[in-house]
Amino acid sequence: MSIQDNLHSIKAKLPENITLVAVSKTKPVSDLMEAYEAGQRIFGENKIQEMTEKWEVMPKDIQWHMIGHVQTNKVKYMAPFVSLIHGVDSLKLLQEINKQAQKNNRIIDCLLQVYIAEEESKFGLDEKELNEIFEFVQDAKNEMNHIRIVGLMGMATFTNNQIQVKKEFSRLKTIFDKYSQLETSNLKLQTLSMGMSGDYALAIECGSTMVRIGSSIFGNRN
Ligand SMILES: *Cc1c(COP(=O)(O)O)cnc(C)c1O
Repeated sequence: MSIQDNLHSIKAKLPENITLVAVSKTKPVSDLMEAYEAGQRIFGENKIQEMTEKWEVMPKDIQWHMIGHVQTNKVKYMAPFVSLIHGVDSLKLLQEINKQAQKNNRIIDCLLQVYIAEEESKFGLDEKELNEIFEFVQDAKNEMNHIRIVGLMGMATFTNNQIQVKKEFSRLKTIFDKYSQLETSNLKLQTLSMGMSGDYALAIECGSTMVRIGSSIFGNRN
């Protein structure tokens, strides 16, 4: 099936309130343009340099999401244009995003990445660290005025064990609900980013509002 066909068949399966991020990492601009022409406007990349190169040559009504692990010293390259950063996993990184957003006269939306998997390799915050960040941004004297925490992101363990994956997604949803009453100008949880090609249906069942789908749209990556 073509990229357009894949996109249409996935969209047909998604409830209306679910946002689809087309994960285009490693794929050439021509593939992204095919998705663009089929109406897709949100693309997810996991490397800042690759995202920036694509942003430079592609239509300007695209929303670029950074879904990968972010190195603090590279935030400046995407600060002028990035629309949502999914993988914020430290206060230090959030402070750098705030600083670079200010330089660009922008407010950058962020998701905090929560550690839900059993695998050691997955990045993310535990609940204690999450709390520390919430308290820090809510304190006006810290002047975190150029970021907005709009939700949480998580990745489940890479396994065929649906029961385990469901347990991990449900845990994230519970954490999301627990903090959803918090509300300051820079903090209001609305987006729950969970679910990829292999597990998005389950993620939606567990309360996801945003899915990040790559290979089911663009085909396997090398
Ligand atoms: C690559 C990636 C995806 C998409 O994975 P697929 O299995 O190709 O859908 C989603 N989220 C993150 C964080 C990724 O790095």
